Amino acid sequence: MHILRINTKKKQEIIEITSLVKDIVKKAKIDSGICVVYVPHATAAIIVNENYDAALNEDIIKRLEKLVPSNADYRHDRIDNNAHAHIKASILGPSETIIIKDGELRLGRWQGIALCEFDGPRERDVYVEIIKK
Ligand code: ZN
Repeated sequence: MHILRINTKKKQEIIEITSLVKDIVKKAKIDSGICVVYVPHATAAIIVNENYDAALNEDIIKRLEKLVPSNADYRHDRIDNNAHAHIKASILGPSETIIIKDGELRLGRWQGIALCEFDGPRERDVYVEIIKK
């Protein structure tokens, strides 16, 4: 397993990690298999989506904030004031699985892999596991 250590900068943000994952896949030198990208934190998520227009990431953060406002009447906020971050992370999920074929990640032309931070800034680990076919 490989670990990517990412320092997030904002309270909520989406950080492109595609090239970091691609480097790990390249070094693994396998022809076919799968790549699992997993974040072991309860207030962060991993997504695969368009990475061409950075404004889309702002749209995703903004829309999630409308659906799940940072400040509402959450019971969990009595503990560490981040219920909204857990809910957003639950909606998106902690991992993505990408197929490796001919030694490369089979992402679509406009797709990238991103880490979503909902309770930053923090140091986050992202686990990358490559399983050979
Ligand atoms: Zn919490």
